[in-house]
Amino acid sequence: MQQDVSTGPGEASSVFDSLSALASDPAQSRGRRFAEPPAPTRNAFQRDRDRIVHSTAFRRLVYKTQVFLNHEGDLFRTRLTHSLEVAQLGRSIARALGLNEDLVEAIALAHDLGHTPFGHAGQDALNECMAEHGGFEHNLQSLRVVDRLEERYPAFDGLNLSFETREGVLKHCSRINAEHLEVSEPGGVARRFLDRTQPSLEAQLCNLADAIAYNAHDIDDGVRSGLITLQQLLEVELFAHYHQQTLGEHPDLVHKPRRLLYETIRRMLSDQVYDVIQTTRSNVAQAGVKTLAEARQAGPLVAFSADMKTRSDALKKFLFASLYRHPQVMQTTLQAQQAVRELFAAYLRDPAGMPADFATGADLQRHLHRTVADYIAGMTDRFALREHERLTGRRLL
Ligand code: MG
Repeated sequence: MQQDVSTGPGEASSVFDSLSALASDPAQSRGRRFAEPPAPTRNAFQRDRDRIVHSTAFRRLVYKTQVFLNHEGDLFRTRLTHSLEVAQLGRSIARALGLNEDLVEAIALAHDLGHTPFGHAGQDALNECMAEHGGFEHNLQSLRVVDRLEERYPAFDGLNLSFETREGVLKHCSRINAEHLEVSEPGGVARRFLDRTQPSLEAQLCNLADAIAYNAHDIDDGVRSGLITLQQLLEVELFAHYHQQTLGEHPDLVHKPRRLLYETIRRMLSDQVYDVIQTTRSNVAQAGVKTLAEARQAGPLVAFSADMKTRSDALKKFLFASLYRHPQVMQTTLQAQQAVRELFAAYLRDPAGMPADFATGADLQRHLHRTVADYIAGMTDRFALREHERLTGRRLL
């Protein structure tokens, strides 16, 4: 879906509204963990984006669940199409605000690389399996993917991305995990969780673009699947408002329910985008910040207005209760969790069941649980199901 941010209500585009003084500048990047000569034709963030797009983990996103398992239908979002939609929304907003589009794109495309197969069900199961061994958290795993697990370069593990992209990828982090990261990278990407400072505005923006994207596309997928109805959605204020507005202008759409749904979602998306743009400008003006360093010390600046936040939270709550916890979704969830748990147990018993890359590490025994978690987290839905059948002789889902 397209937003034309330059023609939104009250959105006269003006250089005075640009926050470009607060944008991340690739020429001022804090650099990569392993020094590399600059690329002749691309800046640091463009190069990060390209490395992400060419990574193995990125290609796997096409077969990883967002809400609906990949085999449930060809039109549902996957982690890949979700990430593309986050990048599109993020770039639209970044352009209007004068922030760095390349950095937003790189973070958006990488933000879900650490997701397990089977969506949140898979992550919950893996987190349980890892309870005694540091747990499993998908944001941290996304960082592990780009820092360590991708194997493409002769001189280093991972993709060796710039600090700013890595900082955006680690969007949440528990205190205990931040302390661990701080040991291996003092003053690095985890520091802000200990200091309670903010990441770049581009990173803040990606968090919001993520929520705007899934709130909208999960309505679309939820209705398409038949698990949520229009009647239910009309109880949700944010949706009902644009639905009524659309029908008021196009009464004939009552006979064209799909177009009516798309137009409602399109208006909802656009207004959320305009709201973030306006609110962020006014937050920055109010905070009086003039530099990125000052912005990092201020509270979150890229945000919804209080009113939009209330309405967006209500939609999120509705989707949680009515779609993510729908009995039909829960049934696949339970089976997906069983698959993850049984895979985990099988590789613990016999690490040689994993490919040599994982099964022959120098001190495998010491890191066995983490290695198994890394291997399972990287799987696509369908690969995990095939592996489960191979190892247990039973077919789930
Ligand atoms: Mg996401």
